[in-house]
Amino acid sequence: MHEFSIIENLIPQVEDFLIKGNYRRAHKIFLDVGELSGVIPDALTFAYEICAKGTLLEGSELRIRVIPVTASCEACFLKFEVHNYSFFCPQCQSRELKLLTGKELKVGEIEVE
Ligand SMILES: [Zn+2]
Repeated sequence: MHEFSIIENLIPQVEDFLIKGNYRRAHKIFLDVGELSGVIPDALTFAYEICAKGTLLEGSELRIRVIPVTASCEACFLKFEVHNYSFFCPQCQSRELKLLTGKELKVGEIEVE
């Protein structure tokens, strides 16, 4: 399962952050997940509960922040949110788009003690 390997990579990174910052433990980890990142948020939280056991993150909570897909048009430079995978500009109908957000998969914030 893809989500398990993501969490297995994530936990040592957050532990490292806690150790370096002399924090005792983390309360909440906010993970930014783009709509196009291809992961299932529920599967991430499930994997987290299992993988966090026995680590510094045991008892902390993983909160998923879903990041919407936004793009800018290469023709008219409009910035807009992409809904339902409609990858064209709502203003000029161009399909020459630059993806701005939506592929994130990273820790956004860590609440520590
Ligand atoms: Zn346009």
